[in-house]
Amino acid sequence: MNILIMGPAGAGKGTMSELILKEYDIPHISTGDMLRENVRNQTDLGKEAKSYMEAGKLVPDSVIIAMVEKRLQEPDCQKGYLLDGFPRTVVQAEAFSEIADKIGKPVECVIALEVDFEVLKDRITGRRICPKCGAIYHIRNHAPKVEGICDECGAELTQRKDDTVEQLVVRMDEYEKATKPVIDFYEPKGVVMHVNAARPKEEVFGEIKEALGKIA
Ligand code: AMP
Repeated sequence: MNILIMGPAGAGKGTMSELILKEYDIPHISTGDMLRENVRNQTDLGKEAKSYMEAGKLVPDSVIIAMVEKRLQEPDCQKGYLLDGFPRTVVQAEAFSEIADKIGKPVECVIALEVDFEVLKDRITGRRICPKCGAIYHIRNHAPKVEGICDECGAELTQRKDDTVEQLVVRMDEYEKATKPVIDFYEPKGVVMHVNAARPKEEVFGEIKEALGKIA
């Protein structure tokens, strides 16, 4: 199964990805996670990406395309992929079409998660993540059992540096300008699934699962 999941920051890409992975044996490739790992490990790529990320700006296309192309050559991608946060620009989408053709894995479904700004604001400012195992929480809607501590592994929860209202405005703007055209790029191929993601996660996932079931 070859899937792209798209949506503005806070739309639930990470949460839906976790649920999709329980159903399909494919790797979850999040360009945001890959970049954050590079920043943490202070690699050359991480050093280049850091300032863009902290400002909520997109990292240059050439950096991202090379990173994804390399990742897709790993053996676990034989079964397909769940790409999260990529492609985010039309340049990336065009380059990815060539890469996907080269590896014989064309996109079968683009899940476009759609949510209003006010809902995103609440989700983003309340989001807490576990730096160790990647679990995602929300201070009100999905609070950990012990405040500030991960239920899964006991690590101290953190807030992403870019999870502020100011950064959300910038990231939404980037999304409208750069990423909405990516959805338009895939629309004529008949693979885009628009999902109202302002609903409870079980409902949102139910709809996604049903649609993917028809493709598999
Ligand atoms: P995310 O975790 O997907 O919200 O990504 C966090 C940040 O990483 C974004 O705000 C961008 O700075 C950068 N990033 C992630 N994916 C991409 C991409 N496909 N193209 C450019 N920048 C990206």
